[in-house]
Formats: sequence, structure tokens, C-alpha cells
Amino acid sequence: MTCAFQSPLLFRVYCSTLLTALTLTDTAYAQEPPPALDAAQFRSCLNGLHRSSSFKAITADTFARYTDTLAPDATVLPLLNRQPEFTMPVWDYLAVLVDDERVADGRAAYARWQPQLQQMAQQTGVAANIIVGVWGVESNFGQNLGGRSLVQSLATLSCFGRRQSYFRGEFAAALRILQEGHIAPEKLTGSWAGAFGQTQFMPSTFFRSAVDFDGDGRRDIVDSVPDALASTAKFLQNAGYRRGEPWGFEVRLPPGFDTGGASRKAKKSINAWRRAGLTLAGGNPLPDSLPKAGLLVPARGGPAFLVGRNFDALYSYNASENYALAIAHLSDLMAQPNARLGFATPWPTDDVGLSRAQNRELQILLLARGHDIGSADGMIGAKTREAIKVEQQRLGWKADGRAGQKLLRALYGD
Ligand code: CA
Repeated sequence: MTCAFQSPLLFRVYCSTLLTALTLTDTAYAQEPPPALDAAQFRSCLNGLHRSSSFKAITADTFARYTDTLAPDATVLPLLNRQPEFTMPVWDYLAVLVDDERVADGRAAYARWQPQLQQMAQQTGVAANIIVGVWGVESNFGQNLGGRSLVQSLATLSCFGRRQSYFRGEFAAALRILQEGHIAPEKLTGSWAGAFGQTQFMPSTFFRSAVDFDGDGRRDIVDSVPDALASTAKFLQNAGYRRGEPWGFEVRLPPGFDTGGASRKAKKSINAWRRAGLTLAGGNPLPDSLPKAGLLVPARGGPAFLVGRNFDALYSYNASENYALAIAHLSDLMAQPNARLGFATPWPTDDVGLSRAQNRELQILLLARGHDIGSADGMIGAKTREAIKVEQQRLGWKADGRAGQKLLRALYGD
């Protein structure tokens, strides 16, 4: 969460466990092998760090306890350096992030935590279904927290590779979390980049937004669901979330409408959009629930959305419009028990993406054909993509490693 690095060099890396582990960014990445790291250099770097101003809140005892026998973890560096391999279409991204399983799990979670969620919504203004949507996309409702030691990953990234100054701040914050006793040391695990807990906060975000909702004196966003969800609500409130406003809604564009200049950021009044001929997706007039909205068109010819400030708050969680749309869509499905997956306007493709259940089916078919892809876990990683390329070549298709409905049908069919 809260951690997508962006630079003019098109360097964008997501820190959340789910988004990185499942390659669920809108980009898939090629990866290099881990480098050899110099132990003496690591030790001398750590010594220097502790004397630096960023670590002034960390006592000598704390620093020694967590770093004295620490070795660097070279495997985090290729993850920092990976280069985009191909751009994942928005319909693939949404198919796996918002599928029937996640909707069912989310509705169960929404029902289970309803009293606490309502209280959080009252305190922060952030709607209960939005909080649950973030939880589902960030960690699959707490099922996918990430298993890497934050101290080890962040110490390594503080001493090797690019963005060391950024990671030094995160490393110091991680040590402070331990020093203050919010999270047990063995529980402070997460993604390679240091995102942790039920809603994948970076350590610095923890100190800006984490909340002790259950009142035990600790802000435990790993083991306390109420603490984690209240912290997420607080984060969104800090990001400018407005009470009572929807994130936005799907709209129908008038015939011939030019979406070339569409932008989430170019906000206009709802009246201006009405004058331009936009209606709700079903044809009803636009509601007055958003004072101003921007037009989001993730894929030309596909569904279009008017989005407000609350969509921007979701965007700030991971700096991706597709990511924010996944949360928005999942949230709507939490609040509307009879709503169905997908949008009124279909995506402009004849080969939509696969759900996690379908990914597992595809992997079982690949395993049956002798591809060494490990287990059928529903996550399309490098091995599965390589196996897909082999099958695509055999079929005489473009070998791009993409998992889609057409490939699933082809493998079932022969
Ligand atoms: Ca607590």
C-alpha cells in the first residue's frame, strides 16, 4: 500500500504483498538473479545508519537487538530492479482482483465486522464497504500478509541498491514499531519492500495513520482486524476522503463522444457533464451525489466512469487507477448483495481475463501437459507465463505469456 514509486524513468514498483506476489500490478516484470552482497559493507553501513539523524528515535539497545546478527537478503534487490515486461490489460487485472471468490469472502467479512465498521465509518466518514474493499484487494482479507522479515528487507534496501534514502526512513520506522511494542518482532513480516499487515501499510504510514481501535494500547495492524481496518479508514480520511460521497459511478457516453482528453484529474461539475450528454450507465440522469467529477476511461471503447475525490483517496493508496477501480468495484459489490461482477459496458476485447479459479484450472491443464509450474495456486508467476508461451507457440499464437479465456478454452478443447 501507499507505496508506488514513480519517476520520469517509468520506474514504478508496488510494495503490497498481494500486488507484487501475484504480479497484479498492471505490469508484469522480468527479473534478474540476486547479486552477491558484501557482509563487511553491510555491517559498516548499519553502523553508519544508527548514527544518522533518521534513527535518532531508536535506542542503542533496540538497534543492537535487531541488527547485531542480521545478514542482508540479496533476493530483495532484483525485485527493486525489475523492468516492465508487458502491460497487463485492465480487464485482466480486474478479473483476478475482483472475482466471485473475493466477492463472497468480502461479503462474509463485511457481515462479520459490521458493528466495528459502522463505528469506523462514523468516526472517519469512510464508508464501511470501502474499508472492506481495500482489505480485500490489499491482503485478500488478511490471508496474504507476506512472509519476509521487514527488518531484514528494509536493512538490505537501506544499504544496497537504489532508493536507499527512502528505505532508510522506512527501516527506522520499522525499528520504532518494534521499540514501542506495537507488533511482536516475529509478526513484523510483509512484502519485499516493507508493506505489512492486514492492509499493507509501509512503516512510515503506520506512524501517520495507524489507530488502536480495540483499545489494548497497541496499534496492531497485523493481528487485530479492528486496528487494521480503522487504520485504513484513518489513512483514507487523511487522504481527503469525503463523508457521504460515492467514489463515482459508471456512465454512458453520448454517441461520438471524444474520450481522448478524459482524465480523472480534470474535474467538472455534474451539470457540465449532463450538458455534455452523459447519463448513468442504465440511461438515468446523473445524480447530484458528487459535486465535481473527472472522467475515467481505463480502455478506449470500454466502460467509462465519473469519479470524485474519494476515488482520488483510493488512488493514493497505491498510485494506480486500475487498482483504485478494483477497490471501488469490489466495494460496490459489498454494499449491494444482488449486484453482479462487471460493468454495463463490456471491456473492448474478445478475450477477457481469468478469475483466480480459472487461473487454477489453467494451471492444472498446464501441469497435465508436463509443464513444471509448481502447484496450481491461481497465481500467474514467471513459470506459468513461460509454460503459457510454449502452449501459445504450439497453437501458432503470439507468445506473450498472457492467461486469457481463449487459451483456457483451447487447452480444454484439445
Ligand atoms: Ca490495539
